[in-house]
Amino acid sequence: MTESLQPFQPALRGLSQEALCALFAEKGIPAFRGKQVFHWVQKKGVRDFEAMRNLPKELRARLAEETRFGGIAETIAEKPSADGSVKFLFALDDGKKIESVLMPGSGADADKMTLCVSSQVGCAVDCKFCVTGKNGFFRQMTTAEIVDQALYARHYLARQNDGRLLRNIVFMGMGEPLLNTENVIPAIRLMIDHEGMDLSPRRITVSTSGILPGLDELAQSGMNAMLAISLNAPTQEEREVIMPITRKYPLADLMEACRRYPLRGGARITFEYVLMAGFNDSRRHAREIIRLVHGIPTKINVIPFNPDPALPYQRPTDEAVLEFAEVIRAANLTCSIRWSKALDVSGACGQLAGQYRQKTSGGYVVLPRE
Ligand code: SF4
Repeated sequence: MTESLQPFQPALRGLSQEALCALFAEKGIPAFRGKQVFHWVQKKGVRDFEAMRNLPKELRARLAEETRFGGIAETIAEKPSADGSVKFLFALDDGKKIESVLMPGSGADADKMTLCVSSQVGCAVDCKFCVTGKNGFFRQMTTAEIVDQALYARHYLARQNDGRLLRNIVFMGMGEPLLNTENVIPAIRLMIDHEGMDLSPRRITVSTSGILPGLDELAQSGMNAMLAISLNAPTQEEREVIMPITRKYPLADLMEACRRYPLRGGARITFEYVLMAGFNDSRRHAREIIRLVHGIPTKINVIPFNPDPALPYQRPTDEAVLEFAEVIRAANLTCSIRWSKALDVSGACGQLAGQYRQKTSGGYVVLPRE
């Protein structure tokens, strides 16, 4: 677990129940207190030691002195959109900024919210259609920082008190989660812990550009988290153009890894496909996708590209998007279209394009890099 910021003060938000009890044992505190604290931290999501009412006053004071919650240091903004999405801009302990976006489900599921979380500050993968990639990599996020995005979103929804609940987590925010398995896998374990948030692993989706060692690690973790592949082009040559990582991890090997990925109880792999006008949006591309995913339980998610002044690609017309999806559906594959949710949420690994962005009266501005 990466906790490099204040190594002498363990971040409680990033510790499993076992690790917390072991830490308490080291400090001569009874194990049952570890369980109580885990409950307060991961189930109740408290942000203040004083709120831990069943702990003796001296222990609360000691925890405040010798440990820390870790995670999000400050909420800079909560920005609701007209479509029901809410974007959170957070500052971390070292002042770095990250975003998460809460999105409502469709139709009757409007009260079932999906949180898109970030897993790295920046990203080193350098996909050519992604603003995060363009800005480069800053650092890994810690387990506590990843988990805290979900705890904060739950806390936000509880405050609204309007019946909406956090139902799904997607690792589609800033960063490549499978380049940070050291923190992402423990974070998922915490999210699915029955004594904690108790989310279903079937409702947690890790989206990757195709990092093969990380993919195998996730498969071997035994957690049965759902998998999404940021595909975006159906041939090795075309994918190399927009996703240089394909040179290191070839498309054929990625598809083999998908075939090996353990899928339980009718689960399917989602292939995310950002549709860019004149680059990957022809009928030939749709047919190549059908060929590529043959034999894999599959859902295709088509994401019309959201143009950004920093990027050279364009959005196809709505008619072209619908036609593309029709070709895929005609092959009896499930294909959904993700029309944008939240004004500046853009698809990449389904990623947020707008890191460091602030809404201003004149639109969106990119905040300076720290
Ligand atoms: S699309 Fe995902 S993996 Fe690619 S650069 Fe953007 S954040 Fe990184």
